[in-house]
Amino acid sequence: MFNKILIANRGEIALRIIRTCKEMGIKTVAIYSKADAESLHVRFADEAVCIGPAQSSESYLNIPRIMAAVEITNSDAVHPGYGFLAENAVFAEICKKYGVKFIGPTAEMIQKMGDKVTAKDTMIKAGVPVVPGSNGLLKDVAQGIKIANQIGYPVILKATAGGGGKGMRIVRNDGEFDDAWHSAKQEAKASFSNDGIYVEKYVEEPRHIEFQIVGDQFGNVAHLSERDCSIQRRHQKLVEESPSPFMTEKLRKKMGAAAIKAGKSINYEGVGTVEFLVDKHRNFYFMEMNTRIQVEHPVTEEVIDHDLIKEQIKVAAGIPITGKNYEPLLHAIECRINAEDVCNGFRPSPGKITSFHSPKGHGVRVDTHVYSSYSVPPFYDSMIAKLICKAQTREECILKMQRALDEFIIEGIKTTVPFHKALMRNEDFRKGNFDTGFLNHFDFGECKD
Ligand code: ADP
Repeated sequence: MFNKILIANRGEIALRIIRTCKEMGIKTVAIYSKADAESLHVRFADEAVCIGPAQSSESYLNIPRIMAAVEITNSDAVHPGYGFLAENAVFAEICKKYGVKFIGPTAEMIQKMGDKVTAKDTMIKAGVPVVPGSNGLLKDVAQGIKIANQIGYPVILKATAGGGGKGMRIVRNDGEFDDAWHSAKQEAKASFSNDGIYVEKYVEEPRHIEFQIVGDQFGNVAHLSERDCSIQRRHQKLVEESPSPFMTEKLRKKMGAAAIKAGKSINYEGVGTVEFLVDKHRNFYFMEMNTRIQVEHPVTEEVIDHDLIKEQIKVAAGIPITGKNYEPLLHAIECRINAEDVCNGFRPSPGKITSFHSPKGHGVRVDTHVYSSYSVPPFYDSMIAKLICKAQTREECILKMQRALDEFIIEGIKTTVPFHKALMRNEDFRKGNFDTGFLNHFDFGECKD
């Protein structure tokens, strides 16, 4: 087992990783930017190294500075968390070269799944269903229109380097193609320095259902059941739950087997997520694979009663998995609490938290790095907490979530708590009657506290 793990991340996930390391008797090193000196992950790690100024490019994304911190602290492994360098194949390769274990898959696996066109191609070869579309990148508008007519409108243009819902445009007819093409390309270039675009059929009224998988260094891959992440705003997840209200035993078997096939096709090592779109007839299509721990991993932890960070560390240390698949034992829902002003188009709302009280009680979990008098810096992701509730049934879980949201006091900044309260009251949500377009016709006027 590792002696000392450096956590190349910040915020709640850094704290989350420190907790498991402590329970496993592993020493921890936090890295932090000058903007994060007061963050809890700095306080709770055994050692902490300031690696630079606030800008991510000078700190959490700066590989030479992170490697220097690894060296001076004599760390033998690096946990990248999610975001920042978690899916950066160059970083994984550099860690390997320095003889430091990158807790995640190999650079080659990251590369294979990080480029969406390559990933889709790998899945086609492995016999996993994918959304019909261009086999590879589009050369120009004319080729795009030709393919769109073959597969039928509506279609969606997507960036091969995509992430966070960026570089995507829905196109409903030939006339809309040109504008969508240019704006998708531009956004992809600005966000990922890669303007490669491909096209696929736009699946109407789909659910986003993803499978958590885990693979070890001996070729074993298992699934830990699904999460439904259909509650999204601008293709970004706000609420996740497990099991999916749309799931049947038969579908879980089929999708679970496809997720395992996806993992096995690249000899996947580590925890990962295989994302699918599911249409109303319960046809499912591979969308992408994330080769890291996800923000929403706690809902899986709660329904199968396993520590996924621990699994990740064990697999990285060369310990084999049992190979058993897991079914949800309970129902869990996660609400992402962001420092955002719901009534003003979810505008970021950084600043000082003057009062903070998090909900407690049976079945309630809060993963957060913030506290009363903490200042939310404007430089990073706006998520400040994750509220996770678990109960025997979905109905009970929603009631518990409502109770917990009522107890959540965060003053001084705006948060998404009022949105979650309104969502939990919504009849269609309560019935499990929603798809990825649900928030397009949601009345955000309901979100006043
Ligand atoms: P990102 O990596 O940017 O998050 P994804 O490929 O995971 O992009 O897609 C994000 C979301 O966009 C999905 O959850 C879904 O809501 C929507 N989406 C992507 N592809 C399609 C498609 N072919 N049809 C319908 N919706 C799609």
